[in-house]
Amino acid sequence: MLGRKAVDFIGKDTGGKNEAKKVIVILRIMMLSIGFYCLLGLLGGVFFGDRGVLTLYGILPVVFLGLFCLSYHMRKVYVLWCFNCCTILWVCVVVHYLGWNVGVQHLLIVLLVLYFFSDYKHHAGKILFAVCLVVFRILLFHLYHRATAVWAPEGGAETVLQVLSTITIFWCISVIAFICSEDGQELEGKLVEYNYQLEEQANTDTLTGLSNRRKAMKYMEKIAGNPEIYGDFCLCICDIDYFKKVNDNYGHDCGDEVLKSIGALLKEELQGRDIAARWGGEEFLLVFAGCNGDEAYIKLEQIRRKVNALKVCRGDTAVSVTMTFGLAEYNFHQGLEATVKEADEKLYLGKEQGRDVIIF
Ligand code: GH3
Ligand code: MG
Ligand code: MG
Repeated sequence: MLGRKAVDFIGKDTGGKNEAKKVIVILRIMMLSIGFYCLLGLLGGVFFGDRGVLTLYGILPVVFLGLFCLSYHMRKVYVLWCFNCCTILWVCVVVHYLGWNVGVQHLLIVLLVLYFFSDYKHHAGKILFAVCLVVFRILLFHLYHRATAVWAPEGGAETVLQVLSTITIFWCISVIAFICSEDGQELEGKLVEYNYQLEEQANTDTLTGLSNRRKAMKYMEKIAGNPEIYGDFCLCICDIDYFKKVNDNYGHDCGDEVLKSIGALLKEELQGRDIAARWGGEEFLLVFAGCNGDEAYIKLEQIRRKVNALKVCRGDTAVSVTMTFGLAEYNFHQGLEATVKEADEKLYLGKEQGRDVIIF
C-alpha cells in the first residue's frame, strides 16, 4: 500500500505535457539515492567527528531534495540540466575539499549514461557532452589526484565515503539500465502485439469477420504445398442468389446484415482445418481440408439447407436468401489457380441451372 503510493509519487507526471515519463522517474530516483547517500555520509561524519564531511554532506541532501520538489513543476529537460549542474558542482566541491579518494568523481559516469538514455534525437549533443565530461574528468584528475585536500578526512571516514560513493554510483547506473531496458522490452512487446493486430486486420474482412481473399489464397497455397500434412482438399466458391434484390428491396444495411449472418453461419459450420473466407462482394470461398469431393458435398448440402433456413430479421420482415455453390477437388497437376477457376465455372453453371444448387 505504502510502496504503491511511493511508486505513484515518484512516477507522477512532470510540469511539461507530452514528455516521456521514464527520464523524470530515473532523475527522481537518482536524487533520492544521492540524498540518501549524503545522509549516510553525514552519519559517517558524525561517527568520525569530521567537520568537513559534516558540512558538505549536510548541504547536499537539501540541494537534491529541492531539485526533487522542483521536478514536479519543471520541464524534464530543465530538471535534467539542473541535476547535471548540481552534480558537477558537487563533484568539484567534494574533490576540492575532501580529496580525490572519496570517489565522487565517478558520478560523472552516471551523468553520461543518464544523458545518453534521456535524449532520442541529438546525437551530436550526446557526443559533445561525452567529450566535455571526459575532458573535465581528466582536468580534475590532473588538478586533484596528488593535491592535499582542504578538509582531508581521516582514513576511516575516507574509506566509508569511498565505499558509499561506489555503492551509490553502481546503484544509479543499475537503475538507469534497468528502467531503460524494461522500457525497451515493453516497447518491443507492444510492437509485436501491434504487428500481430495489423496482420490480423490485413487478413480479415471487416464486415463478416471472416478471412479475406488474401488470407484464403495463402491458406490454400499452404495446404496445396504440404499434401503430406493436409492430404487432399476441396474448394467451393458460393454466391448469394439475387442479392442485388435484397439491397434494392430492403436497403444496403439489410444486405450487410445478411452478409454478416451468412458469414457467422459459415464460420460455425467450418471448423478446424476447414475455413470460410469472403471472396469478394457476396461471394464466399470455402476450403475443405483432408477430404474428397463427395465428403465435401455432404458438408455443403448441410450448409445449403442452413442458409435456406436462415432468417435475417429487419423490423417486421424476415429476409431469407439462397446460395449457389461450385465445388472442385484440388488437382495437383492442374494447380491452384485452375482449381479456383473450375469452382467458379461450376458456380455459374449452378446459376444457369436455376440457383440454390451445388454443382460438383
Ligand atoms: P446472382 O444470383 O446472379 O448472383 O444475382 P445477384 O443479384 O446476387 O448478383 P449481382 O452480381 O448482380 O449483384 C451482387 C450485388 O451484391 C451487387 C452489390 O451491390 C452487392 N454487394 C456486393 N458487396 C456488398 C456489400 O458489402 N454489402 C451489400 N449490402 N451489398 C453488396
Ligand atoms: Mg449473387
Ligand atoms: Mg456475385
